[in-house]
Amino acid sequence: MKRKKILITSALPYANGPLHFGHIAGAYLPGDCYARYERLKENEVLYVCGSDEYGIAITLSAEMAGRTPQQHVDLFHKMNKDFFDHLNFSFDHYSRTTCKGHKELVQQFFNDLLQNGYIEEKITDQLYSPKDDKFLADRYVTGTCPQCSYDKARGDECQNCGASYEATDLKNPRSKITGAPLILKPTKHWFLLLEKFREKLLEWLDSKDWKPNVVKFVKNYIEELKPRCITRDSYWGVPLPLPGTEGKVFYVWFDAPIGYLSATKEWAEKIGEPERWKDYWCDPDTKLVEFVGKDNVPFHAVFFPAMIMGQKQFYKLVDELPANEFYNLEGRQFSKSDGWYIDLEDFFKKYTSDQIRYAIAANAPETSDSEFSWKDFQNRCNSDLLGKYGNLVNRTLIFAAKHCDGKIPEMKDLEEVDRTFLNEIRGLIGQASKCYEEFKIRRASQIVMEIAQKGNVYFDAKKPWVSAKDPSLHRSMANTIACCLECLKALALVSFPIIPGTAEKVWHMIGQKKPFSQNRWNDLEEKNLLPGTQLPTPEVLFRKVEDEEIVLESQKLRSLSQNKQDPLATIQEFQKLDFRVGKVLSAEPVPKSDNLFKLSIDLGSEKRTIVSGIRRHYSAEQIIGKNVIVIANLAPAKIMGVESQGMLLAGKNGDTLEVLSVDTLPPGSKVS
Ligand SMILES: [Zn+2]
Repeated sequence: MKRKKILITSALPYANGPLHFGHIAGAYLPGDCYARYERLKENEVLYVCGSDEYGIAITLSAEMAGRTPQQHVDLFHKMNKDFFDHLNFSFDHYSRTTCKGHKELVQQFFNDLLQNGYIEEKITDQLYSPKDDKFLADRYVTGTCPQCSYDKARGDECQNCGASYEATDLKNPRSKITGAPLILKPTKHWFLLLEKFREKLLEWLDSKDWKPNVVKFVKNYIEELKPRCITRDSYWGVPLPLPGTEGKVFYVWFDAPIGYLSATKEWAEKIGEPERWKDYWCDPDTKLVEFVGKDNVPFHAVFFPAMIMGQKQFYKLVDELPANEFYNLEGRQFSKSDGWYIDLEDFFKKYTSDQIRYAIAANAPETSDSEFSWKDFQNRCNSDLLGKYGNLVNRTLIFAAKHCDGKIPEMKDLEEVDRTFLNEIRGLIGQASKCYEEFKIRRASQIVMEIAQKGNVYFDAKKPWVSAKDPSLHRSMANTIACCLECLKALALVSFPIIPGTAEKVWHMIGQKKPFSQNRWNDLEEKNLLPGTQLPTPEVLFRKVEDEEIVLESQKLRSLSQNKQDPLATIQEFQKLDFRVGKVLSAEPVPKSDNLFKLSIDLGSEKRTIVSGIRRHYSAEQIIGKNVIVIANLAPAKIMGVESQGMLLAGKNGDTLEVLSVDTLPPGSKVS
């Protein structure tokens, strides 16, 4: 069989914020599973990715955060790279668009398009700040809405009335950063004449066997192509390679996809064979697979192919474009700014990368949007990974250690039931192979569990623990365990692309020495394990995820977003609280605490016990007799074994604490 050359890319993440599991489910985990699978199939795989680091959104966020754009992208490039490492990603190279060589390649692309007649320059009026001596992109502009006269409207749309417009339509336009007034000034920009590629793109698309909804969407897009501006006024980006164009850079969607090529070039230099990138990009026999989220389809199926078609040199066009739907978090989009997210540092302290990789794969958004939920995560971890997969590994290996001298038994005189079992497992391996080839990791993850479940059912049906007691049945017992070990091998093989860390452990636990990734899929599919191989002591693969943990995680998620969502309390919420004046009658230290007082407080109609953390700031004498302010209708809470029936108010500034009190109002007076 001839080795295929496969170049795999995942959409370049924008270095303007941290990645989350929603991104991972779309363009990344499916790409990693595919790369791992194709390497096992002995194909020549190159998997590249990198950070997308230019664009107006980055300069704006960087300026807001008081960083230079370079500091800003350095921060998020590292953060996102660490995240991929944490999730055990197998990129052959992870680059960035600020890398050496990217600029020249982008300029080369532009020059070819220009010389081939696909670029046009136009002079238009744009907003210019005389004070700062520069043109401002729409994200930098604010002004008065042309529709509703709202005076803090954004550069592209009005957040008051929803109108969308060009920044040049704003009345009284100003710089968002400095407030300086802006004027219209003619300036030159460069446009890519996309409509000239219409016929070529449609013809090319007809040769593709992509998902029908993707093809339909792309065709509509192509019909409506018109010239698109590919330059911006900015100091941050790839500069135009023409004289007299200072302050003009390429628009980020023009330079970003070329990042796939520069990443490949950088990889080739890294391995000491600088020309090797051409083996992938300039050879028609390469299979190019680009993993993207659905919002990225037009760039990968239309714009970038058009840019490539306009080159003088041959470059590969995308062959497969697995485009996934969105992956949400419990019904809403992941959003750090709304507080709807999972704290990753905290997550990885408690859970493993294989647990989350499996949970995402099992619910991958291949045909429709899907989501992460804590309950589903717990189920996947407990009922699948622990209950099916871990259980079979554990019971087989413990039994082998006890009854088979800790070695792989020989298979001899198999019964019908054994042969059927082995055939079924082989059938499932074949099915899994097909799933990986077709980018269906959701189904592949189901097959992993079907294999584990078949193993468990077989183990139960053969009852090796009964055969172990009867020497005449030892042959049958040995066959059972040998077949179960074959099943574990199949599990390691089929699950490796999704949960590589676990597969590697299983592989070593069935007595194999070389790293799993050096295996060949076909060998493992065809050859049985060597009888007599010593089995090491098995280790536990997965821990149980407890109900209490999940309750806590759900609460945490909801309180994070609550805090973000409703920073304002309503008057009704405030009125729910019953504030009263209370006279402190006595104050006793709470045992074993150095800061708590147990206070007895007269509320006029009744006496209350309230525990309060003020002892470092007040002596008993200082607090007794004060008329303090108490929340009288707070749900009681036990504090250090004492029931506290309310709370008193105090102000705090650094180390200074002062209890609020009134002078003349009697106990029981209402405070509002
Ligand atoms: Zn408006």
